Amino acid sequence: MANTHRNRLHRVRQRLAEARAGALVVTHLPNVFYLCGFSGSAGALIVEAGRATLFTDGRYTVQAREEAPGMHREITRGPLFAAMGDFLRKRRVRRAGFEPAALSVEQSRELRRTAGSRVRWMALAGVVETLRAVKDAGEIALMRRAARLGSEVMEEILPLLKPGVSELDIAAEIEYSMRKRGASGPAFPTIVASGARAALPHAHPTAKKLRKNELVVLDLGAILRGYCCDLTRTVYLGRAPKKIRRWYEAVRKAQQAAMDRLAAGVAAEEVDGAARRVLEGERLERYFVHSTGHGLGIEVHEEPRLARAQTYRIRAGNVVTIEPGVYFPGAGGIRIEDDVAVFANRIEVLTSAPRDFLEL
Ligand code: ZN
Ligand code: ZN
Repeated sequence: MANTHRNRLHRVRQRLAEARAGALVVTHLPNVFYLCGFSGSAGALIVEAGRATLFTDGRYTVQAREEAPGMHREITRGPLFAAMGDFLRKRRVRRAGFEPAALSVEQSRELRRTAGSRVRWMALAGVVETLRAVKDAGEIALMRRAARLGSEVMEEILPLLKPGVSELDIAAEIEYSMRKRGASGPAFPTIVASGARAALPHAHPTAKKLRKNELVVLDLGAILRGYCCDLTRTVYLGRAPKKIRRWYEAVRKAQQAAMDRLAAGVAAEEVDGAARRVLEGERLERYFVHSTGHGLGIEVHEEPRLARAQTYRIRAGNVVTIEPGVYFPGAGGIRIEDDVAVFANRIEVLTSAPRDFLEL
């Protein structure tokens, strides 16, 4: 078993001991991947003090052996959750933890029924997510590569933005370019939003064609070897009116203020507040309808959240996005998003596509 996985399992076992639980049933697939390397789309891990057992089905026999060679592996023939419940009963586990955000009512019933009445169940939320929020050097190296890939895709795509090309065309080019560069796929459905549609922060690309004198928001993410990047640029087709340049500069200043505030030891809400204050000063705060950023890693949205009332203290090893934006219903929107790694005494902006206002 790889040392990193051994260390991560060790940290989970410490939490189990504190909670006086004999096992943790890990059902959130990104957490399974983090703890043992298995990347299949069906599986779960049971972590006990003395062993970790990966449960999956016959479709993944070979993959489980290759990706998680050091784990005990159970290839189930029947329902996965019944097999896990049986296992806990046979292992005489008395107190078992589960991940409340990643277990359906039906799965929970099946587990309880098959594990038997002697098992006491306890919700252990966020055990693995808390570990995942702090990346090690190997993870940051992977994320640096993912971010570089995303930045290259962005730079390749910007010259294709022209009146008459559809949002879907651009989205297809983006996802093609990602895969050509080695990504296993997009980290989320690629956003290409033009004109009034740019006012929708999570717009899906449509057949709408780009037109002259419009804002275009491109938000793309790629997965490279299990880790995500997440990058947004906004451009203007044509020569932008003064008002739009002013909005863009305000968003850029807000992003810079958040980056300047981001450091180990600072509360996540302070980073959000730094961006928000700049937009307040420009009387744009009410058009900033989401939070300043989010953790990034195996999932595109993870801990920590850079938002109001988030008291989490930023730590060395956090990787977050910084992505203020302003949205004007009917008129368009502007967002600039970069990925940033936090170290003990500095930050590193992982994404590199130019942030200057582009008029194409
Ligand atoms: Zn994004
Ligand atoms: Zn994002």
